[in-house]
Amino acid sequence: MSVKVQNLTKLYHQQIALDHISLEISNGEIVGLLGPNGAGKTTMMRSIAGSLSFDEGKIWVNGIDNQENPFKTKSMIGYLPENNPLYLDMYVKEYLSFVADIHQIDKRKIAQIIEKVGLSQEQNKKIHQLSKGYKQRVGLAQAIIFDPEILILDEPTNGLDPNQIIEIRQLISELGKEKTVILSTHIMQEVEALCSRVILLDKGRIIQDGNIENFKGKYKNLEEAFFQYTHNEL
Ligand code: ATP
Repeated sequence: MSVKVQNLTKLYHQQIALDHISLEISNGEIVGLLGPNGAGKTTMMRSIAGSLSFDEGKIWVNGIDNQENPFKTKSMIGYLPENNPLYLDMYVKEYLSFVADIHQIDKRKIAQIIEKVGLSQEQNKKIHQLSKGYKQRVGLAQAIIFDPEILILDEPTNGLDPNQIIEIRQLISELGKEKTVILSTHIMQEVEALCSRVILLDKGRIIQDGNIENFKGKYKNLEEAFFQYTHNEL
């Protein structure tokens, strides 16, 4: 099992963001995490990635408890946070070199990763000079440079133009051949193009979990299924 979550509960003051969530994700799955705004997707991803503490429950990454052994579990997860925080004043190569230092990996890996994510033309620019799609590639590069087994991508194509969306999706699809991927998105075509499994969160709870056909169920497409599931909850 790549990731196991048991009874995960997160409160922000009095508000419950995750309400006793349990799930298991196997090696090699590409899981699409769906849900309306505020459903708890980012909170769940941050909890699994080890960047957010939680109130109840346990998370194991490859069998290792992420609260007891945070350094170990973080070394197995590449995480692209929502809004892709980057050091904008750094050059692309300088930033990736900084990330390589953090993970104590061979600097020769930087050139390979630049090639892999399609940053070759832009590698000598400062990050603030890049278009949004290329910034996103830098975000993906920092997430995969240490070759983690698991990738957590929070809205990886948010705000990109249609061409960049296709290119980033192709990249994720390539990465998904070797890694377990958990990604959140509001774009249903993305789920259809990439995911082997869909988990729908609403108000901090899992309300659907299955393959795309099961999720679609009796509805004519994924949008309608999403609408019906999340409105029936009201
Ligand atoms: P979106 O699709 O809008 O990104 P989401 O499904 O990722 O939403 P979360 O960002 O996980 O949802 O938020 C879940 C709930 O927790 C929301 O009600 C949100 O307002 C609340 N929340 C998230 N972060 C904080 C915080 N730092 N302080 C207080 N409340 C928070």
